[in-house]
Amino acid sequence: MTLRIAINGAAGRMGQALVIAAAESPDLAIAGACDRAGSPELGADIGALSGLAPIGVALTDSAADASRTAHVWIDFTTPAATLSGLDALPDSSVRAAVIGTTGLSDEEERQVTQHARRIAIVKAGNFSMGVNLLTALVEQAAQRLGPDWDIEIRETHHRRKADAPSGTALMIGSAAAQGRGAVLPDVRSAPYDGPSALRERGRIGFAVTRGGGVVGDHEAQFISDSEILTIGHRALDRSIFARGALHAARWAAGRAPGLYTMRDVLGV
Ligand code: NAD
Repeated sequence: MTLRIAINGAAGRMGQALVIAAAESPDLAIAGACDRAGSPELGADIGALSGLAPIGVALTDSAADASRTAHVWIDFTTPAATLSGLDALPDSSVRAAVIGTTGLSDEEERQVTQHARRIAIVKAGNFSMGVNLLTALVEQAAQRLGPDWDIEIRETHHRRKADAPSGTALMIGSAAAQGRGAVLPDVRSAPYDGPSALRERGRIGFAVTRGGGVVGDHEAQFISDSEILTIGHRALDRSIFARGALHAARWAAGRAPGLYTMRDVLGV
């Protein structure tokens, strides 16, 4: 059976990568595509928008219209758009969603969890196989290396990225905290800045660099007095996230309601 997907944020960088990856997948069809009201691309064919042949789906600003006949909703937008998109789904045929948008507040995360009581939602700060494997390795390393090893997460992204640290860096930090039997909010270090910026034992620190067109670099460092273990990942192309999100869409279709991660999808 062909899986019908609808894309929220289809005119964006990830939206276009999703259109291209979906066009290469014979088991998928794009049933709808949505972007913000006022977007200059509204009404355009989304195949043509992504530099492909037209596919007969016009970009709309109505999430209800875009989702009407879809099976899976895929969202790479902004936190507010993620929630308004999810609110529009109950009247559609959508039974599963894949959410890649990052930077949601605790309250916004709670609202996503509410929606996951009705449909299956895979939400991940990063949909690449490599990063999800890295996250599992970081959790193991944190479990094995005692508190004498300081943990620091470093990330670099393109100059237009809004949120910091990245959703992926926070995901890696959460895995490190979990390896130590803690939760990240309890052990996250404030940024080192100013005259009283001493590192506290057991904390997990984050360092952020922004510039140019970097797709996404992440590194977890475990630092003792005499050695440093570094586990890192470099994204060379957005297509890795798009292909991962489509893999998650196939996995989520027909699954019971609930909130799932990409590690659930990949089994790592
Ligand atoms: P982008 O700015 O290129 O695209 C976002 C799109 O959302 C734009 O086209 C924008 O017009 C649209 N949008 C804004 N408001 C909207 C609304 N109300 N309704 C519908 N569409 C709306 O950004 P991007 O680089 O594609 O990233 C989008 C999000 O995905 C960010 O949060 C980013 O951090 C995240 N991201 C996640 C992963 C991952 O693997 N999880 C990978 C890359 C990016």
